[in-house]
Amino acid sequence: MERTARGRYETNLDDPEFTIMADGTRFAGFFLGDSEDSPAVFPMQVTADQMTGTVTASLSKPRTHEDKPRTHELQRIARKQRLAAAFRLFARFGLYEGSAGHISARDPERPDCYWLNPLEVHWAQMRASDLVLVRSDGTVSGGNATVNPAGLAIHGQILAARPDVVSVAHSHSPYGKAWSTLGRLLAPLTQDACAFFSDHVVFPFSGIVLDSREGEHIAETMGSMKAAILLNHGLLTVGGSVDEAAWWFISMERQCQVQLLAEAAGTPNLIDPETAAATAAIAGSPEVGRTQFQVLWNLVSRQEADLLD
Ligand SMILES: [Zn+2]
Repeated sequence: MERTARGRYETNLDDPEFTIMADGTRFAGFFLGDSEDSPAVFPMQVTADQMTGTVTASLSKPRTHEDKPRTHELQRIARKQRLAAAFRLFARFGLYEGSAGHISARDPERPDCYWLNPLEVHWAQMRASDLVLVRSDGTVSGGNATVNPAGLAIHGQILAARPDVVSVAHSHSPYGKAWSTLGRLLAPLTQDACAFFSDHVVFPFSGIVLDSREGEHIAETMGSMKAAILLNHGLLTVGGSVDEAAWWFISMERQCQVQLLAEAAGTPNLIDPETAAATAAIAGSPEVGRTQFQVLWNLVSRQEADLLD
């Protein structure tokens, strides 16, 4: 379809995107919504009255999880917005140290490429338009932006090794970093901690990750798991969406904090393995990860709407 006209429309939504077909009075439009994959866009029916010149737009149906983005471009916009929101939230929660750390999102159209944060932009000011595309050969497209070389070494390799993964999150968050010095897996101390039960690994430290082979080794060590504790370094999480990778990181940081507090106070009671595994099946599911992130998205995308730019 070709954008040939814009018209007056009647809707309570702010600035929906729409296109009028050159030869007709009806078309299917989209309104960019508030989810990464579903429902990232809302199908919208538009009717144009050629006599009066009035264009009326309305959502064709309520939001459902079947409302998939219909074009790669729309999906890309939505995914980059979720990624920008993740940076805002990490900054809000203090999950960073200077320019260390990175969160990536695989491109929906070119799965060998991914979006990453430029070094020049503070996470608290990240907008969707600031993100840069990294190609499979590690080169960066667009502008003069630079990216963290460790980010290239880690994200490209994990995304290449894990077709099930859309997003990787890593930063030098304080409690994750403190816990990482102990070289231990997180214990199933609480219901929330069970999300990581038998679903994370400890990866040895061998200096700053600048060699892509180190990224390969991290991916190999993780297998199909959702998280890694990088020894003497920090946390790393992955997910089938930006929402999941970001939420698991935020939650894992909390579990590190809780276990440090509990062990400083005494000897915590452990949830037995059978109960922990059953709890993990629910608390650690992708659906829970997306649901948990959604409320944070609702908050930050309204309070800091410039992240959508
Ligand atoms: Zn790092």
